[in-house]
Amino acid sequence: MSDREGRLSLLARAAAQPHALARGELAQLLAIEDEEGLQALFASAYELKVKYCGKRVAMRGLVEAGNVCAKDCLYCGIRKSNGNVSRYQLTADEIVRLAELDAKQGYASLVIQSGEIESEAHTRFIEDVLRRIAPLDLGVTLSLGEQTEEVYRRWKEAGAARYLLRIETSNPDLYATLHPSGHSWERRVECLRALQRCGYQVGTGVMCGLPGQTYDDLARDISFYAEMDVDMIGMGPFIPHPDTPLGTGNQPFATNHQALTLGLKMIAVTRLHLHDVNIAAATALQALAPDGRERGIRAGANVIMPNITDTKYRRSYQLYAGKPCLDENAGLCKGCLEMRLAAIGETIDYGRRGDSLHYRRRTSGSASLPKEDA
Ligand code: SAM
Repeated sequence: MSDREGRLSLLARAAAQPHALARGELAQLLAIEDEEGLQALFASAYELKVKYCGKRVAMRGLVEAGNVCAKDCLYCGIRKSNGNVSRYQLTADEIVRLAELDAKQGYASLVIQSGEIESEAHTRFIEDVLRRIAPLDLGVTLSLGEQTEEVYRRWKEAGAARYLLRIETSNPDLYATLHPSGHSWERRVECLRALQRCGYQVGTGVMCGLPGQTYDDLARDISFYAEMDVDMIGMGPFIPHPDTPLGTGNQPFATNHQALTLGLKMIAVTRLHLHDVNIAAATALQALAPDGRERGIRAGANVIMPNITDTKYRRSYQLYAGKPCLDENAGLCKGCLEMRLAAIGETIDYGRRGDSLHYRRRTSGSASLPKEDA
């Protein structure tokens, strides 16, 4: 069998049923570099995306609620030790107003993300926000880092439906090179398990293109998603931030195009391995190319999270260099996205929460398409 035939047979096996490929085979697909091979990979993944999610893209307005963070991740622009960031925290009124704007835009889902704070005052603050936005009937995702199971349970009871906590890398040794002591990979895994016990739709993900990361690491990440049986994936390219320890001398790619291609390959191989999960086309893709998110959709992603945070705060929530849409308000973002998606034959799935199909199958035991998406 030629290389080309071998590759096509891997793609056919992966598309026929979930979890069909071994880790080495996932790594083989991730290593594809020639244009013909990449087009075949993206086309197979996009076909599966259309099979499970239609030609529709689910939207979640993203609120960057605050950049105060107790963690000191060596790659992150809002790490505790970065003294060049002006710190902010939105008030409950400000978040509620953004949730109302999100509902008015027709997105039906909202993501509240911030730096990591573990305190009773913060737990109560989020509970209060969740209770106040409950009448809007939005599918709310939280991305507020590592917390105790008790805190996750309280936020679930207050109205959150989904939680996104990236594992960053499934390789504990690589994780240790990206975080100072006191940051625990094992705790992150335990948090993911706690979130599942609390009944959330659980999302995780990694950064791709990290210094020292191999195709085998990335294949292991995709196997990790399968083993953890997660419902949603949010991953994106690592982009160095100049004010961080990993900010200089750590650009693993000569060009943005190479970094973007790796991000797209991760989306495609993840779709091919997991089939029915929600996969976000991360904003970091757009930082590498203006049409990065649309290309993410064409590679198998089905979710976009447009930033709806007031523009005055956006510069203070720069996780990496080159963050896009710093001066674009939510209305402009919506119009721009509608046009961009129409150009690739996709529409925005207004008015629907876009729950993870995997979650609904996992919890209902039904193999058929759920009513909302049928
Ligand atoms: N505090 C929450 C947590 O720890 O999950 C959510 C906020 S955290 C800033 C969101 C994500 O930003 C991280 O999980 C990480 O993957 C991503 N991120 C941070 N720095 C990045 C960088 N330099 N390039 C790409 N992504 C980055």
